[in-house]
Amino acid sequence: MPRLPVVLASIALSLTAAGPATDVITVTPTAKVATAPVPSAGDAADDPAIWIHPNDPAKSLVLGTDKKGGLHAYSLDGHDRQLVSPGLRPNNVDVLYGFQLAGRRVDLALASVGKAGKSSGVKVWTIDQADGTLAEIGDGLTFKAFDGGAPYGLCTYRSPRNGATYFFVTDRNGAVEQYRLDPRDGNTPALGATRVRAFRVGSQAEGIVADRERARLYVGEENVAIWEYGAEPGDGSDRRAVARVGEHGLTADIEGLAIYYAPAGKGYLLASSQGSNTINVYDRGGDHAYILTIDPKAGTIDDIAGSDGLDVTNERTSPLFPSGFLVIQDGKNEGTQNFKLFTWEEIASNRLLVDTTSSAR
Ligand code: CA
Ligand code: CA
Ligand code: CA
Ligand code: CA
Repeated sequence: MPRLPVVLASIALSLTAAGPATDVITVTPTAKVATAPVPSAGDAADDPAIWIHPNDPAKSLVLGTDKKGGLHAYSLDGHDRQLVSPGLRPNNVDVLYGFQLAGRRVDLALASVGKAGKSSGVKVWTIDQADGTLAEIGDGLTFKAFDGGAPYGLCTYRSPRNGATYFFVTDRNGAVEQYRLDPRDGNTPALGATRVRAFRVGSQAEGIVADRERARLYVGEENVAIWEYGAEPGDGSDRRAVARVGEHGLTADIEGLAIYYAPAGKGYLLASSQGSNTINVYDRGGDHAYILTIDPKAGTIDDIAGSDGLDVTNERTSPLFPSGFLVIQDGKNEGTQNFKLFTWEEIASNRLLVDTTSSAR
């Protein structure tokens, strides 16, 4: 058999393998890196966040939560280089760059932690800009959210209007709170959090991401829809639906959300469609048109199933990922759960932008 017909057959297969929905376009990348599995058994790994090193992109990190354990930092070859705060049970994690802390600029990692009770809330770590080492701030500092209840989803946000820094948290009852994170020089701890907004999405909500340029906020109401709100404290509860469960194969639970940034407001909103083991990709702006569905397939590394969180970067990192990457939690493995990394070029194929110019810093 000559080679060409085999290639054509495999393309045809990938275009028709999307399942019953006929309005779905599917790309089927294979993972290039798998992180070390998390130590805890069962449903444990949950949400990743990418940290970009300020001047040595190959030293960038994937932070990943073990919701029965602690927060892990993985190098881009998947090696587990650090575990911080074991036993704190982090669920969702995100990164905030260039925060002014005790007179110096630092990067921060934030995570929703704990079950309801005194250990629950939002934990903050510093990320050393030279070597990527994470460290707790203060003596076990945890900001309360939901009046002591357990936060579930979490994301950070820096206002493009005035540079103010915030985090958002969701809970299992569909509530959202926004907190402003302020430096408090000369105090211990040297930062404080003030609740500036609260609203209700409806039912259980986890996945959440803010657009740092367009000042928009996206929340996944797990069984219902992805909603768009304003990201500023005064933006109230006005919203519109980006996509509803059932459209273009979007299958409950809606889990992790992430934004791929390209210049001039271009780029994509990615959503984990947990029930279909896929990721839906929408336009970042405008009417958030559906573009395509990422359905990872097994290669050298095994397939993804039941994914919780994800994160994406458009930035150049290690030689393996010169044009950014997508990292997805894998909920089903032979061993314990882990996170898997995909090159953005393979996902983009000829359908999506590949643009490394936007910077998260
Ligand atoms: Ca969930
Ligand atoms: Ca698959
Ligand atoms: Ca989750
Ligand atoms: Ca797997």
